Amino acid sequence: RAKEQGKNRYLYFSDEMNAANAHRLHLENELRLALEHRQLALHYQPQIDLDSGRIIGVEALARWRHPTLGWISPAEFIKIAEETALIVPLGRWVLETGCRQVGAWRAAGLPPLRMAINLSPVQFTEHSMADCIEAVLRETGLDPRLLELELTESLLMRNVEESIGTLRALRAMGICLAVDDFGTGYSSLSYLSRFPVTTVKIDQSFTRELTSDPNVAALVRSIISMAHELRLRVIAEGVETEGQLNFLANHRCNEVQGYFLGKPLPADEFIDFYRRFDRLAARRGGGDSEER
Ligand code: C2E
Ligand code: MG
Ligand code: MG
Ligand code: MG
Repeated sequence: RAKEQGKNRYLYFSDEMNAANAHRLHLENELRLALEHRQLALHYQPQIDLDSGRIIGVEALARWRHPTLGWISPAEFIKIAEETALIVPLGRWVLETGCRQVGAWRAAGLPPLRMAINLSPVQFTEHSMADCIEAVLRETGLDPRLLELELTESLLMRNVEESIGTLRALRAMGICLAVDDFGTGYSSLSYLSRFPVTTVKIDQSFTRELTSDPNVAALVRSIISMAHELRLRVIAEGVETEGQLNFLANHRCNEVQGYFLGKPLPADEFIDFYRRFDRLAARRGGGDSEER
């Protein structure tokens, strides 16, 4: 009897697995169609320079609204895209769309903003990646210095020597390179000095605990000062409260990003947001820089 129950449990488990696989396969097909039929969109979240108090750039975040399933989180569909070959055309679409957007905003009267694009480790290991990026820059006419590629620690650690070579080629083009979700992986700050990156993005899990956990506060302070010793720019992501913002400003973090400053927005809504934010910043007279 016990054996039979065990067998039933196994069968039940395997049904669940099949259902999960079927769902995944379904999403994979739907994602391919969405990409073909341009049903994906990019939303843009502002990044604020703490010295000037102004929006200095944006991070492009992929969005997928399925006609019947509704919004599907990037965490889910990016993972599916990475497990299939879809991330390569998807990544190229993100890059192209983001780079072109900077020019479209300029035509609408906005200043040249920096565009941050997330790169998947799978895209990064494509041999033609640097060529692809160069081609997109040429086609869209974006100044390479306005492009920031966000890489993860796990991406960098995968194949250290090869990564360093690719990063050097990208830096030689003038592109900025950020380490995303910094502190969540296995790498250490000393490791950072080996990679020719320009920017460190403090992960939102640290930002969240900044004002409630003294250990996290100490950690963030030392990330900022050591990054500065290495001449890296520091962005904190996931800023949700004024207390977090003040802490980061007081400890000379360079830039902030998070719901407290602005949520990711579609391109057209971002124009209005930018103008309102800029008027407020002008009235404040250079943000809170004089307080520091
Ligand atoms: P990420 O690159 O670390 O992006 C930051 C995530 O935090 C975004 O989630 C953003 O919407 C969210 N966020 C921003 N401010 C706040 C805040 O104040 N509080 C909280 N709790 N969250 C905040 P999202 O858009 O769901 O994206 C999740 C992840 O999916 C991204 O993490 C990134 O790794 C990946 N992703 C998104 N778009 C792309 C893409 O185009 N290509 C690739 N390869 N990955 C992407
Ligand atoms: Mg990112
Ligand atoms: Mg991040
Ligand atoms: Mg993250």
